[in-house]
Amino acid sequence: MTSLKAYNNILKYLQPFSAKLIAVSKTKMQGEILVLYGAGQRAFGESYVQEIKSKSELLPKDIEWHFIGHLQTNKVKYIAPFIHTIQSVDSFKLLLEINKEAQKNKRVINCLLQLHIAKEETKFGLSFEEVREIMMGKLLNKLTQVKITGLMAMASLTDDENLIHSEFHSVKAFFDEINTALKELPLTTLSMGMSSDYKIAVEEGSNMVRIGSLLFGERK
Ligand SMILES: *Cc1c(COP(=O)(O)O)cnc(C)c1O
Repeated sequence: MTSLKAYNNILKYLQPFSAKLIAVSKTKMQGEILVLYGAGQRAFGESYVQEIKSKSELLPKDIEWHFIGHLQTNKVKYIAPFIHTIQSVDSFKLLLEINKEAQKNKRVINCLLQLHIAKEETKFGLSFEEVREIMMGKLLNKLTQVKITGLMAMASLTDDENLIHSEFHSVKAFFDEINTALKELPLTTLSMGMSSDYKIAVEEGSNMVRIGSLLFGERK
């Protein structure tokens, strides 16, 4: 069940950090999403292609949809017509495909490069070195229909707050390093923090959090 109390508490907490909330609505029904929409929320995050596609068709058109799950190249075409930001870009090949599909739709698609920092092998993402290669590479200028606006990362699943602090800290340091090297067109978005660790994330410099279960209840 959607909790407006949690929603208002989270917004209040984020305000002094100027951090943006992405409401993660995967597996949740339209009615649950509309409760937050009614309270003013416009940015929603989803992890599955079919689900985000059908929700985008049924829900109000001024919703800003963020894709946050692992994205296969052959499925980019289904979300390219409407997606606002793809937060989970984990290969240059995927970036090329997003560029191609964005072109077909005469759009520019915002992308975040997903870093793999957590201890778990199961999580997707790029190493610091791979992100450096993409950002400093000459090929990037040729991708006129994608705009890399920042980085996304997930911390390890752990109760060890020191570890979570240090993982987010290292991503913020890397974000600053990339921006120093880029000089022009800096990255603006640092997407870190979920229900369990968003307070730590904003303390460490995140300016976008992706929160699901605190807003909508646990997923089955
Ligand atoms: C599901 C998901 C979230 C939200 O997780 P909660 O713990 O429910 O807040 C955030 N980011 C990503 C990438 C996710 O897949």
